[in-house]
Amino acid sequence: MQVRADFEALDRADPLAAFRARFALPDNVIYLDGNSLGPLPRAVPGRLAEVMEAEWGRGLIRSWNDADWISYPQRVGDKIARLVGAEPGTVLASDGTSINLFKLLSAALTLRPERRVILSDNGNFPTDLYIAQGLGGLLDRGHELRLVEPEAVAGALDPSVAVMMLTEVDYRSGRRHDMADLTARAHAAGALTLWDLAHSAGAFQVDLRGSRADLAVGCGYKYLNGGPGAPAFLYVAPALQEAVRPPLSGWFGHTSPFAFDLDYSPAGGVARNLCGTPSVLAMAALDCSLDLMLEADMALLEAKSRALTSLFIETVEETCGDLGFTLISPRDPSRRGSQVAFAHPQGYAIMQALIDRGVIGDFRAPDVLRFGFAPLYLRYIDLWDAARVLRQVMEEDAWRAPAYQTRSRVT
Ligand SMILES: *Cc1c(COP(=O)(O)O)cnc(C)c1O
Repeated sequence: MQVRADFEALDRADPLAAFRARFALPDNVIYLDGNSLGPLPRAVPGRLAEVMEAEWGRGLIRSWNDADWISYPQRVGDKIARLVGAEPGTVLASDGTSINLFKLLSAALTLRPERRVILSDNGNFPTDLYIAQGLGGLLDRGHELRLVEPEAVAGALDPSVAVMMLTEVDYRSGRRHDMADLTARAHAAGALTLWDLAHSAGAFQVDLRGSRADLAVGCGYKYLNGGPGAPAFLYVAPALQEAVRPPLSGWFGHTSPFAFDLDYSPAGGVARNLCGTPSVLAMAALDCSLDLMLEADMALLEAKSRALTSLFIETVEETCGDLGFTLISPRDPSRRGSQVAFAHPQGYAIMQALIDRGVIGDFRAPDVLRFGFAPLYLRYIDLWDAARVLRQVMEEDAWRAPAYQTRSRVT
C-alpha cells in the first residue's frame, strides 16, 4: 500500500525537480496535458518582449540580418536535432506538422515513383491520414493509403509500398512502435520511412540517426513547450537531402531567395524544404523553450517518464480498480510513450469533472481518458493526487452533473 509520503520522497530525490519552477504553472492545477499543449516557460514572455521591442520595434527589417531571423528555421532545427538524435543540418523548424507531413510525404512518393502504396496504421493521428488522402487525390496517380492494425504493419510491407508513414507513439493508447526495427524492415522491402514524432520529441530519447529513419516530422507545441501553434519540425536524412523535390517550392527554399530569379532552383541540403517567411515571434518562443529543455539530460527525462507512467498505472489500479476503468496503454514502459490512457464508458463527463477539479487531462473519442506525463515539470505527488481526485469524482458521482455531458468543440 502506497502513501503520499512515498511520492514526496521520490520528488525529493528527483534530479529534474528544479525544472518545475522554470514553468508558469498555475497553483491548484495538476497538468497532465503537456502532450497536447505544453505550459509556458517563465523565460518566454521576457524573451518575446525583447524580440518585439528591440528586434521588431527598433531593429525593424534590419533584424532579418542583425538578429539573424533569417536562419531561425536552421538554428531552432539544430536544437531540435539534439533532442531527436539527429545530426546538425538535418532538421528545420517550419510550418505546422500537417504541412511538413505533406511536404515529406510528397517527397517520398516522388522518390519511389514506381510504387503506389502509402502504408500506415489505423491508430495514426487522423490529420496524417487526411493529408495522405489529399495528396493522393492531388497527384492523381492511383496511390492507395493502406491502413492495417498497428501490430500488422511489419507483415504488410511488400514491394508495392512506397513509404511506411507512422506516428511512433499512438495519440490515444500511447503504444509505441519500434522505430529501428520497423525502419529496417521497411528498407528491406525497398520502402522509405516517414515518422511522426509528435508524441515523442521531448518526452523520451529518440534516435533518428541510429534508427536510420529517412524522413520525420514533429510538433513544437506538445512536449517541446513552444506555445499554441508553435512551428513544427521536419527531418530529412543526409543521404536523401539532394534527391528531395519540394512540392511547396517557395522562395525560402530557393538557392538564393534574394536573387529573385524567375525560376525555382532548390537550395542545397535540408533548407530546400522551407516554403515561405517563418513566424518570427513563434520561432523566438520555441527557441527559448528549447534552451530550457536542452539543459535537461534526456536519459533522465526518459527514466522519469517511465517511472511516472508506471506509477500512475499502479496507483489508479490500486485506488480506482473497481470503478470501470480499462487500461489501454501497454504495461511495458519500453512499449509506450509518456502517456497513460484508460477507457471508460463515461470518459467524457469524467474528464470534465476532473478538469473542473484542477486535474487537466484530455478526452479522446470514443471513450478514452488520456493523461500525459511530461517529465520535465511534473512531480510524483501530482500522479498520486490525480488518482485521488479521480477516485473522488467517481465516488461522489460528480461526473453526472449536466454541465459535464455536453461536448465542447475542443476536447
Ligand atoms: C498533434 C499532432 C499533429 C498536429 O498537427 P498540426 O498540423 O500541428 O495541427 C499531427 N500529427 C500527430 C501525430 C499529432 O499528434
